[in-house]
Amino acid sequence: MDLGIKGKRALVCAASKGLGRGCAMALAEAGVDLVINARGAEALEATATEIRNRHGVTVTAIAADITTEAGRANVLEAAGSVDILVTNAGGPPPGMWSDWSREDFIKALDANMLTPIALMQALMPGMMDRGWGRVVNITSQSVKAPIGALGLSNTARTGLTGFVAGTARQVAGKGVTVNNLLPGIHATDRAISLDAAMAKTQGITPAEATARRAATIPAGRYGTAEEFGAMCAFLCSMHAGFIVGQNILLDGGAINATL
Ligand code: NAP
Repeated sequence: MDLGIKGKRALVCAASKGLGRGCAMALAEAGVDLVINARGAEALEATATEIRNRHGVTVTAIAADITTEAGRANVLEAAGSVDILVTNAGGPPPGMWSDWSREDFIKALDANMLTPIALMQALMPGMMDRGWGRVVNITSQSVKAPIGALGLSNTARTGLTGFVAGTARQVAGKGVTVNNLLPGIHATDRAISLDAAMAKTQGITPAEATARRAATIPAGRYGTAEEFGAMCAFLCSMHAGFIVGQNILLDGGAINATL
């Protein structure tokens, strides 16, 4: 399918690895020029080179922490005006509800709620002026079904979800759509580190931990960054202009709910 976005420009945050990288790769395959970001320069440059070689699009790589004001300023300066924004950052650490301090909450809110909001505030006015734009926020299945140990994530990401629910309806009339993608378990570094943590606490091998977690998913496996990226690219396509303010779950059926 021709996604109709060849020649558009996108900013994809936290995109040297994992789901962000999957989104960047799929947008590049559709002919979109990219600004990509992550903190570590080496992996970021390697991803930028691979995307250029595979798809022949322009890729600008900015190594910066997207959750800091200074990092965002660097990224936004390089991005200039973009047609597509994919927000993403690392997830908060697991823990216990009674242990988290105010500082822990502020850190999680900064990374997973206030950063995507700041990026939307910076880039959506230009999209609205030009009459076309796409925003996809990578959130989590924890928005729909809370994960106890990830209370910092549950809290920050539902805050973002509330912001998007109202804002998406305010900008849709200007040709800008905002939607959230909710990943279930995907085979990325993040999933590997959660498997390792589970293996340690349960006294099993990491492979056993992976098998146990995969068995909780009706699809019987983890999702891939490629599948995730393909959905992101579709949401950014010309065909998705009527999808507004939605929370789309990609979880292999893991959340047992009718709606
Ligand atoms: P990942 O494989 O660990 O990749 C994270 C990417 O984000 C890397 O490129 C990393 O590069 C970059 N990054 C992290 N913090 C950053 C920051 N502050 N500024 C800029 N770049 C940053 O993680 P993932 O699995 O793709 O997860 C992406 C998001 O989806 C996370 O928020 C995660 O919690 C959420 N999620 C993932 C799953 C899953 O199963 N994979 C499920 C639910 C939710 P640097 O470290 O070099 O910065």
